[in-house]
Amino acid sequence: MDFKFKIGTKVYFGKNAVLDNREIFKTYGNKALIVTGSKSGKMSGALKHVTNIFEEFGIQFDIFDRVENNPTLNNVKEGSEAAIKLNADFIVGIGGGSPLDASKAIAVLAQNEIEPINLFENTFSNKPLPIIAIPTTAGTGSEVTPYSILTRDDIRTKMSFGNEDTFPVIAFADPSYTESMNLETTVDTALDAFSHAMEGYLSKRSTPVSDILAIEAIRIFGNCINSLISRNISYDIREKLLYVSMLGGMVISHTGTTIIHGLGYSLTYFKKIPHGRANALIMEEYLKYNYEVAEEKINNILSAISISSIIEFGEIINRLVPNKVVLSDEEIEIYTSITMKQKSTLYNVRQVEKNHLSNILKKCFLGGIQND
Ligand code: NAP
Ligand code: FE
Repeated sequence: MDFKFKIGTKVYFGKNAVLDNREIFKTYGNKALIVTGSKSGKMSGALKHVTNIFEEFGIQFDIFDRVENNPTLNNVKEGSEAAIKLNADFIVGIGGGSPLDASKAIAVLAQNEIEPINLFENTFSNKPLPIIAIPTTAGTGSEVTPYSILTRDDIRTKMSFGNEDTFPVIAFADPSYTESMNLETTVDTALDAFSHAMEGYLSKRSTPVSDILAIEAIRIFGNCINSLISRNISYDIREKLLYVSMLGGMVISHTGTTIIHGLGYSLTYFKKIPHGRANALIMEEYLKYNYEVAEEKINNILSAISISSIIEFGEIINRLVPNKVVLSDEEIEIYTSITMKQKSTLYNVRQVEKNHLSNILKKCFLGGIQND
């Protein structure tokens, strides 16, 4: 057995995690930039909790609430200018993966005189500002990963950077902050969390410890499927989903994601399909593709979610997120070429070749499966 395991983030999980642990904010300095989206911070209630705490402790703060979905390089540059102007001691990211990932980029850019494009070099002269991450979606697990995924218009896709120093130092994971998410985003993001666990489990970089976390995340996700299909989401289910998301984040911190994410980035970039939903649309063909080299592990996944076959799995995913996407041969060629350049997503358990990816996309989207 041969593996490394480290999560650079201290997690406080549970209702009132922020308010009950408010003293922690003081330990990171006197000036903070809050990084969030236009509505996630406010609607979740987390922004108000944090600003009340800052007022109570006399921590000076500014709010950058212009993080876009799937943030671009320009967007994080703008955020870093706000951090530099304030001379911030630390960053508080509030939101889904987009604001949390933007926080990581802003934390690095605030401390290093580099352009956003240089973030992808992954080595920085100065350590980033400390990041406190408060998720308001249950999907990316970004609160416990070092990754920041940014949209790169120059190469027409999304790409991640991150190193040991870009783990948030603290994560406050309170399921009640996810209650204001709409039902569609709840389902989409839950599927992202599940995808992280599944892809990590079927990655060449999986380890004994990441496998335990992955299969537990998959099992708990299985307990949420009926609620997700009926769109009947109680607090108890939200708590489970946030836990799945965190476990999935811990998995991919060690394994990275694989071809579902690699291909899904193109669906998001070109077709504006939300990240988790884009992943979900590829899952059934991904399992069929990998079955010949990972039969035992795929059977473990199916049994952990009490599903008897990949076909039945596909039917369930289709009930969660009906597939309305149709791609042309030309689009499939572009998407596969881009994905083949995303080396970090090619650690798939089955050795990936370009024609494999185009076959997966053809089976998913050529001619389209219209299920309205
Ligand atoms: P998101 O893009 O952060 O948010 C999706 C939408 O939901 C936004 O409109 C957002 O509003 C809204 N929202 C979020 N929380 C809400 C709440 N509690 N109440 C009301 N509205 C809420 O979605 P995401 O799926 O969490 O993140 C996706 C991004 O994360 C992608 O860029 C993806 O590539 C990345 N990602 C990162 C990792 C990682 O390890 N770091 C892993 C997987 C994916 P606002 O616009 O106001 O925020
Ligand atoms: Fe993801």
